[in-house]
Parts: sequence; C-alpha cells; structure tokens
Amino acid sequence: MYVVICIRLLLQVCIDWVGELSLWLMKFRALGKYGNWERGRQRVKRGEKSSAWAATPTSVNYHFTRQCNYKCGFCFHTAKTSFVMPLEEAKKGLKMLKEAGMEKINFSGGEPFLHNRGEFLGKLVQYCKQELKLPSVSVVSNGSRITEKWFKNYGKDLDILAVSCDSFEEDTNRLIGRGQGNKNHIENLLKVRTWCKDYKVAFKINSVCNIFNVEEDMNEQIRMLNPVRWKVFQCLLIEGENAGEEALRHAETFVISSEAFQRFLERHKEIKCLVPESNEKMRDSYLILDEYMRFLDCTQGRKDPSKSILDVGVEDAIKFSGFDEKMFFKRGGKYVWSKADMHLEW
Ligand code: SF4
Repeated sequence: MYVVICIRLLLQVCIDWVGELSLWLMKFRALGKYGNWERGRQRVKRGEKSSAWAATPTSVNYHFTRQCNYKCGFCFHTAKTSFVMPLEEAKKGLKMLKEAGMEKINFSGGEPFLHNRGEFLGKLVQYCKQELKLPSVSVVSNGSRITEKWFKNYGKDLDILAVSCDSFEEDTNRLIGRGQGNKNHIENLLKVRTWCKDYKVAFKINSVCNIFNVEEDMNEQIRMLNPVRWKVFQCLLIEGENAGEEALRHAETFVISSEAFQRFLERHKEIKCLVPESNEKMRDSYLILDEYMRFLDCTQGRKDPSKSILDVGVEDAIKFSGFDEKMFFKRGGKYVWSKADMHLEW
C-alpha cells in the first residue's frame, strides 16, 4: 500500500515538474520571439506563423487617412479617427521602411484623394518614386475625387492605380453605399480609366464580393475596361471595424459563403487578370500600416496595433504585425508591379 502511494506521489511530482518546465520553455520561446510574454504566449499556443518576427516589409499598405466620402456597408477601415501624419513625419517613416527592405508601397484609406485635395498623396507618391526609388508605387481609391490635374502632376511617378468597383449597376452600388449624392460611380470609373491610359498609369480594379453583387455577371464590362489586374475579395468581417458593438459599420448582412464566392469566380474564370482573395488568403497576408504608422495585426479577427515605427523602428514594430509572409507569397503578393516592366500598350 505504502509503495503504491509513494509511486503515485513521485509520479505527481514528475508531472508537475514537467508541466512547470514546459511552461518556462514556452515563456522563453515567446520572449525570444516576441519580446512580450502575454502576447507571445497567445501566439505560441496558436502555433502561429514563424515568419512574424523575421518578416521583411517587401510590400506595405499605408492607410494614411481613415476619412472617406463613401459609406460602403462592409468597409473594413472606417473613419475612427481624422488623424493624418504630418508630411515630413510620413516621409521619415517611409524612408525607414525602404531601409528595412520595402519594394512596394500602396497608399490607401479611407479615400486617399480627400486629404488636401490629393496634394498630400501626390507628394508621397513623388517622394517614394523620385527620392526612395521604389520599384512600385500604387494607390487604391474609390475614384470619385481624382482629377486630370493630379494625373498631370503626379501620374508619371505612379505605377498602379486601383479603383474600387463592386458593381456595374448603379442601384447595386447605392445599396452597397458606394456613392455620394448624385455622383455616378461608373462614370467616374470610366473617366479615371481614360486618364490612366493618357498618363500611362497601370489600371487595376478591386471588387468586394458580397450579398448584393454575388450573382452579377461582370465579364463584359471587365473585358472592356481591360485592367492589368482584377482583384476580387470575399467580403471580410473585422471586429471593431465592420462587426461588433464598437464598429462604425455592420457588414454581417453583406457576408457570403465560400460556395457563393466560388460560384462568382467560376462565372468569371475566363478573365485572365482575375486574382481571387478568399477570407483565408486575405486576413494575415497584408502588411497594414495605419494613420499613426502602426502595423495592424488582424490574426484575431480585429485590428490590434503595434507601436508606431517612428517610435520603435520597423524591426520591432513588425513583430506585432501578425504578417504571414508565406501566405503573402502564396497568394501571389509579389508580381510584376513596376509599370516599366509591364510592357503595356498605352
Ligand atoms: S470607398 Fe473604401 S474606404 Fe470608403 S467607405 Fe468604401 S470601402 Fe471604406
């Protein structure tokens, strides 16, 4: 009897000891990789991406403003602040990113052409191409505030302009919230398409596949517009942005199933430039920099900010970006992105 009790006690001590040891091993692993125990513990527990602490910011999406003139119901970068970094500070951050390995910058928002009537954006585009000599400088816009004057002044320094368009039916655009007053989204799109050709900027279309456009056939219009890329995203929920109590938008009613998304892709499979992005591909494969130049980690289905790269440097901040570098390459995040290499017939 005593022998059995002793063996059980001994076993219990061993189990406790092993448990304690593995906890400490986890702590050291987390501290080494993330420099922060609690956050690191969560990531180690999830067996999370080993690339997060070693990532190179090859392609960065800088959402320098959250302000927008549209009200898309699924918007996942909403107007939670009106802050925009002063121009010289923003340039400083961009230079730091270049020194850390950035090859492509994409300016986004909100609507990037709103702040200072597009002049702020123009100066950043010019700086990134002329001073930093980045191979690729691109912009994502809803297309409503772009002027021909902007193209005249800054078009030569811009490689790609992506315009968001989810539908070629104005009623659907209105249902989605893509519009302002009487402005016709499609007319704007056509105008911008012509300017891209005239000023030699590669033209791209971004569409969000959602409950209102999932049955639409866009083959004819996309062929006519002939973009270099047509990115089709599956509508994504992000807590605090377009889902949950604190969110400014509520996109739950816009969401579609993976099967419905596949049907949309199947209908457009003849379009060679179509690049599909499911929720799974999208969530962690973008390096997102917010208006304070903080990386946003979306791995938990919300946007958790790092410290600003201006305060802690790129290398420290990027550890908290949640960026999945492998998925970035897997989704084709690196492609021919300099207009000089695209051999376009303007
Ligand atoms: S245009 Fe873009 S930034 Fe503006 S509300 Fe729509 S999704 Fe959001």
